[in-house]
Amino acid sequence: MPNVQSLRCKECGRDYPQEPIYVCDFCFGPLEVNYDYDAIAKNISRESIQDGPLTIWRYDELLPASRDNAVSIGAGMTPLLKAENLGKELGLNNLWIKNDAANPTHSFKDRVVSVASTKAVEFDFDTIACASTGNLAGATAAHGAKAGMNTMVFIPSDLERGKILGAAVFGSVVLVNGNYDDVNRLCSELGDDRRWAFVNINMRPYYSEGSKSIGYELAEQLGWRAPEHVIVPVASGSLFTKVYKGLQEFAQLGIIDSADTKMHIAQPFGCSPVAKAFVEGQAHPKPVVPDTIAKSLAIGSPADGMYSVGIANKTGGSGTIVPESEISEGMKLLAETEGIFTETAGGVVISTLRRLAREGVIGPDEETVALITGTGLKTLEAIADSVETVTIDPTIRSFDEVVTGAAVS
Ligand SMILES: *Cc1c(COP(=O)(O)O)cnc(C)c1O
Ligand SMILES: [Zn+2]
Repeated sequence: MPNVQSLRCKECGRDYPQEPIYVCDFCFGPLEVNYDYDAIAKNISRESIQDGPLTIWRYDELLPASRDNAVSIGAGMTPLLKAENLGKELGLNNLWIKNDAANPTHSFKDRVVSVASTKAVEFDFDTIACASTGNLAGATAAHGAKAGMNTMVFIPSDLERGKILGAAVFGSVVLVNGNYDDVNRLCSELGDDRRWAFVNINMRPYYSEGSKSIGYELAEQLGWRAPEHVIVPVASGSLFTKVYKGLQEFAQLGIIDSADTKMHIAQPFGCSPVAKAFVEGQAHPKPVVPDTIAKSLAIGSPADGMYSVGIANKTGGSGTIVPESEISEGMKLLAETEGIFTETAGGVVISTLRRLAREGVIGPDEETVALITGTGLKTLEAIADSVETVTIDPTIRSFDEVVTGAAVS
């Protein structure tokens, strides 16, 4: 890739060739894609982006794989919707919802997997694999199918049915009796003597770059401007760090004037090591054993947790720990005001937003984006007890008795 110079260790700065590797041999720091921004600046403009496809690949100059090889099922360019009704409810006049549940497999993970699977093809792998909290499984299996690769997807066995079946329909899914951190460890061991592309392990430097596209899209969809606040659901912290990186890159390249966005961490009470580190003023999140209904956020040892805390601090952002009981409340609030059915992670985001608005952390007129990263149809269990329906016989009389009667009383 002419736009990429190397993989670079985030800790000691050592450079590595572009290979399926993810950790520094010297200091064990994570590797990150290092671009040649001078070369990119010559090739990228608002116009060149607008001429591109209506997918993440419109930003290919800032991605580590080639648009010509793209494994794409259409990830990206999801709607950014002005949230008038929810805004009124919360006293926010300038609120936007980025609806990434509108991606092909209904979560933002299609972005990262589109990049990782393209890179896997470029590296000539024939098996694509992942350790997943749920949504990554569906995205990996679907992209593997599209690329004609073998898929090998590992998930905790206690996941929601929608996530298990929604992945298994595309290819091979292995349920592991353990939590995500157990699954991840198993996958690292499996990867040692198998030549598989684990999208979030040996392909992680490439994978994570896919999340930058949310930052780019926010800027483009707002009319080439960075928002004042973004609220991001955090699991490993990869998405959080990369939305920030995307906005910074656009500013650095002069595509937008500046990027002074305050970055806000949203986590559920039952798995909140990153938000807790922020609140307690600690740099390093302490690992926890997750116990939350927001299973997509249930990573107890977040690989990018420390970097996320750093970014929240540096930008004047925040960290919020959402009580478990408020997760379904957030899901219902978004559904009832904006007609968007999000999963538990979105419930965490909306409840965080409500708290930040109440506390005055977000001012009434400040441009704010809440990231909705997955669909509620995969986590029906979470709202089953708080949503009511009525059943009638197919007669007017029954309708009057049950529905009209209920409405009057
Ligand atoms: C994976 C996921 C996240 C967060 O992922 P990171 O590991 O922090 O990048 C957020 N929301 C949903 C719905 C997810 O599936
Ligand atoms: Zn290093």
